[in-house]
Amino acid sequence: MRSESGMSPIWKIHGTDAHAMTLRLLDACQACRLVPDGGSVALKPNLVLASAPEDGAVTHPGVASGCIEYFRTHGIHDISVIESSWIGDKTMRALRASGIGQACEEHGVPFFDLKRDETVTVSTAIGNMAVCRRAIEADLLVDLPVLKGHCQTRMTCALKNLKGCIPDREKRRFHALGLAEPIAALGAALRPGLVVVDSICGDLCFEEGGTPVRTNTMLAGFDAVQMDAYARSLMGLAPGEVPYIELAERYGAGRARWDEGDLVMLNEPFEATEYGRQGGTVARLTSHVHEREACSACFASLVRALYVTRRGRDQEMFIGQGWRKEAPDGLGIGNCCRGATSCVPGCPPTAEAIARRLR
Ligand code: SF4
Repeated sequence: MRSESGMSPIWKIHGTDAHAMTLRLLDACQACRLVPDGGSVALKPNLVLASAPEDGAVTHPGVASGCIEYFRTHGIHDISVIESSWIGDKTMRALRASGIGQACEEHGVPFFDLKRDETVTVSTAIGNMAVCRRAIEADLLVDLPVLKGHCQTRMTCALKNLKGCIPDREKRRFHALGLAEPIAALGAALRPGLVVVDSICGDLCFEEGGTPVRTNTMLAGFDAVQMDAYARSLMGLAPGEVPYIELAERYGAGRARWDEGDLVMLNEPFEATEYGRQGGTVARLTSHVHEREACSACFASLVRALYVTRRGRDQEMFIGQGWRKEAPDGLGIGNCCRGATSCVPGCPPTAEAIARRLR
């Protein structure tokens, strides 16, 4: 399935029910067609450490349960969940804390801790690499990342989530190699057939969470590199600020481009206006923002842009549906604030578009 640009479509949905959103995304992209007759599906969530999804680090259990229900309904029964958490934590602890362990039990789906898996040596653009056998041998590898910030690579999404498919010794080597090249090479070696991004609640700055921002959005697509290119714009980062994305394209992992025509919107952002708790960092970043009934996706775009640019504190900003009929004196964020003195259009605008204006 291709969009007019020849790229994979990116399906996008807003909401708060991860299970239901996942079902709609997989239905829209006809994910069952990606599995050959009698084939296996391996779901690869982000369980980087023992944490609850509300902290902004790990994949919501509803994403896993939605995938399981979808594939089962379509007659696909060889389903497993695979992951290896970061070196500082035990995968099984992370599995329990995330709620995905319970989802596996309830659906009778096996979970495999990849820290204990056999490895195979794979030839990549940067030399041989040890990769866990279950990730390589699945007929369909489904990448289920959380879109969030990262203190070294600026962001983590589809490509970096694959780092949970290698043994700990290889993870150490990745850091010694500076992360960008090995992440890109691993993306080309694994090439997941389907990516479902949990951007319901991702952290602003750290892969381990602690500064969660409610975005209430999910995405699905077939190209992990394209997905990361789009995700980068949602984080407010410019091309070039996450070098492993372009490197991954060069290594043959996918295409590092997207345009508006690739987006397939399954609903409107105002169908998800529920906010979670906003931490102190978010409150500080938005102390000068006048918010009235803003959708979560819109507000999160603004928070991410304020965070990455560290600018905009000197002007009044307006955001939300409550400003639709008014003409406030300041910078409006999103189409609802077109009446403001100036405006960053979009519904919602990407963080990258807001960041460009602030810069
Ligand atoms: S522009 Fe308005 S309707 Fe659109 S996402 Fe922003 S607040 Fe929601």
